[in-house]
Amino acid sequence: LSTADLIEEHKICVCVRKRPLNKKELSIRDLDVITIPSKDVVMVHEPKQKVDLTRYLENQTFRFDYAFDDSTTNEMVYRFTARPLVETIFDRGMATCFAYGQTGSGKTHTMGGDFSGKNQDCSKGIYALAARDVFVMLKKPCYKKFDLQVYSTFFEIYSGKVFDLLNGKTKLRVLEDGKQQVQVVGLQERDVRCTEDVLKLIEVGNSCRTSGQTSANAHSSRSHAVFQIILRRKGKMHGKFSLIDLAGNERGADTSSADRQTRLEGAEINKSLLALKECIRALGRNKPHTPFRASKLTQVLRDSFIGENSRTCMIATISPGMTSCENTLNTLRYANRVKEL
Ligand code: ADP
Ligand code: MG
Repeated sequence: LSTADLIEEHKICVCVRKRPLNKKELSIRDLDVITIPSKDVVMVHEPKQKVDLTRYLENQTFRFDYAFDDSTTNEMVYRFTARPLVETIFDRGMATCFAYGQTGSGKTHTMGGDFSGKNQDCSKGIYALAARDVFVMLKKPCYKKFDLQVYSTFFEIYSGKVFDLLNGKTKLRVLEDGKQQVQVVGLQERDVRCTEDVLKLIEVGNSCRTSGQTSANAHSSRSHAVFQIILRRKGKMHGKFSLIDLAGNERGADTSSADRQTRLEGAEINKSLLALKECIRALGRNKPHTPFRASKLTQVLRDSFIGENSRTCMIATISPGMTSCENTLNTLRYANRVKEL
């Protein structure tokens, strides 16, 4: 491999994270059908039945850059996924890190931190861990001389529309100018000076995201949340890190739903996840034409997909249970395609 090939290889990193069986799964005696035999392999043991009713397991193997088993902490996942991308934004690059998977598989736990129960803690999520390291890097002599300022945004894309989570879910317009620059008009970009400032913003944005929901996952599972860390030098963009908690990818049922709104939302989510896959693939192959206009999600992330120095990481989160097998296989196939040439 030449140096160029090696750099290309690192432009896209695709990982899988398995969560432990939860209380509900344990209570119905759901079986764990996922094994992670080595640090980059995921095996799915899918129970099947032959025509003569004999039972057997169909084992499917997938290989990724990393596979994290259910004992892996957020800090460890972070170290191998988003951590290397912090360097990218200091080197004037654009970085994106996505959590992709079915609802309940651990996307928000991975990106935002633990919001279940009373002890809400966003300090262990990848948003916060990345922010922490941005402030560590800022102090290094080699970057100190740039006199960089740090800003954050936090918004949500729901049914193809953008809402500002740092401004009471104000609906925002997305404009593309003649030079194909995409702008989210009026998006709040907050000045942040330390990790604590960022933690406060994450809390504000997260409570805004989940407010008025009938169930914890009702709305947030159907929207993409985008948290950004922006470095500016004398007001001009130096680098940007977009960390994205994607909408749940289980949409099969929606497309046949009786409710029109639900069907439309489902179709919109499918469309954006397909567009995302194509944009990441284009980034990996250095294709001049990135189909970013195919969805609002890819449109607002346009500048992150086209730059010379753009890197991306996808964390595919999976549930271990047999009851989730079909969704898990869909997630693994999608993650596999992102990486395929
Ligand atoms: P998603 O955002 O994909 O819908 P969540 O992150 O909300 O899923 O996770 C669903 C539940 O599972 C939450 O209660 C969360 O705390 C728990 N969970 C997810 N991942 C893990 C993990 N790796 N270890 C322990 N608990 C987890
Ligand atoms: Mg979630």
